[in-house]
Amino acid sequence: MSMFQDIPVDVGIAYEGERIRRAEMYVEFGGPDIKFKFELARVRRPEEVKDGGIIIIGPDIKDIPEGSSVPLGMLVEVAGSQLEEELEGIIERHIHEFTNYVHGFMHLNQRYDIWCRLSKEAFKKGFNSLIHLGKVLIRLYKADFPIIEKIQVTFITDPKEVERMYYEALKIYEARDAKARGLKDEGVDEFYGCTLCQSFAPTHVCVITPQRYSNCGAISWFDGRAASKVDPKGPIFRIPKGECVDPMRGEYSGVNKVVQEKSLGAIKRVHLYTAFGYPHTSCGCFEAIVFYIPEVDGFGVVHRDFKGVAVNGLKFSTMADTTGGGRQVDGFHGISIEYMRSPKFLMADGGWERVVWTPKAVYERVKDFIPEKFRDKVATDEDVKTVDELREFLKAKGHPVVDRWKPVEAEVKPIEVKAEGATGVALPQQAQAAVLEGVSVSGVPTTSVGFKITLKGAKINIDKVIIRRSGSTS
Ligand code: SF4
Repeated sequence: MSMFQDIPVDVGIAYEGERIRRAEMYVEFGGPDIKFKFELARVRRPEEVKDGGIIIIGPDIKDIPEGSSVPLGMLVEVAGSQLEEELEGIIERHIHEFTNYVHGFMHLNQRYDIWCRLSKEAFKKGFNSLIHLGKVLIRLYKADFPIIEKIQVTFITDPKEVERMYYEALKIYEARDAKARGLKDEGVDEFYGCTLCQSFAPTHVCVITPQRYSNCGAISWFDGRAASKVDPKGPIFRIPKGECVDPMRGEYSGVNKVVQEKSLGAIKRVHLYTAFGYPHTSCGCFEAIVFYIPEVDGFGVVHRDFKGVAVNGLKFSTMADTTGGGRQVDGFHGISIEYMRSPKFLMADGGWERVVWTPKAVYERVKDFIPEKFRDKVATDEDVKTVDELREFLKAKGHPVVDRWKPVEAEVKPIEVKAEGATGVALPQQAQAAVLEGVSVSGVPTTSVGFKITLKGAKINIDKVIIRRSGSTS
């Protein structure tokens, strides 16, 4: 792009999705080892913004020793007669897209959780100042958002200043999220869709409803509405809801239609409030993963910053590989933290009635939204480390999932089992017979009767079970 002639590296859409490994990085901003980091966009009055201004508070790239991980705050301030505060979320989310256009710069995640790397190669070519990044941002914003009349960008690397502003940013995110909480999916005519992450996950479409926040946790229904008004043909668009096909699972004809179009036919149906069947797809920048734990028939939720192994023995990064990529994966489901505060959270699967484990850090953030009767029954990483310990914890607390285990644990009383079509089975007069259709029973000695089946920890799918008194004809 000729508009970037003075930038020492190439800038373009082709570099989106580029990964920079630790060995290749010159410096890392934010990421899992750094607590204080954020990115924030604010709409200001024109007199508060110096158009084209780039401010650096703290050391610049060239002053940072190679191989370091340092805090970073990025503040994008914009002004324009048509700009409303509602657009802040969308403008902020574009930091992810625009910084990723820089060859040799990687940006992951969002808001309080950013993780950026600059490659050694880019540094060698002369990308040794955040001024370059600021110029790229300013030019791309102006090109993409004609309503931005003035823009200035501030990079903060001074640890004390990042820490101070981090807490301010958290308050602003919370205020944005809280705004959408009063609305219900049933109460609006349209949802919004976002395909910003298709460069990482080509079949992924976020469906943003008042009660199902976008996976990245950075775009609310209000943000979607504001963005689709400003740029109806852009990556954030309207989804007329159409008919509600299934209120429990959250299936809408309009959602199915638009998702099918935008995923180029790859995804045909979406059930918004479940982790099974046709779950909402997961891109790569979900804030957390809901994972099914078959041993307890419940869900764990692990967030991106959780460093250890989750209760199922897997790390976030391992599960993220299974979850992401724009597919619909049964039992591995990318979500935002805000969705955990929604009454529609996994509604079709039982919601909080099925959630059994989450790291303490997540628990603290959402505990006020957990229905009171379940609040002390969810285990955290401080309570249990393994599935066995989890099972004991859930039993001790009387978690509602324990009731779901009963049919599995109970010993089936001695019954006579007659396989369809088997002959020569002599059944006692008063005995009840279970006829299992579509089940193959192997190893049944055809001359014996009254054997005992004990099902422990088993999951069995049976097409049809007919229990009838022995000797009856139907
Ligand atoms: S996670 Fe969803 S809403 Fe967020 S940027 Fe990606 S596609 Fe858009």
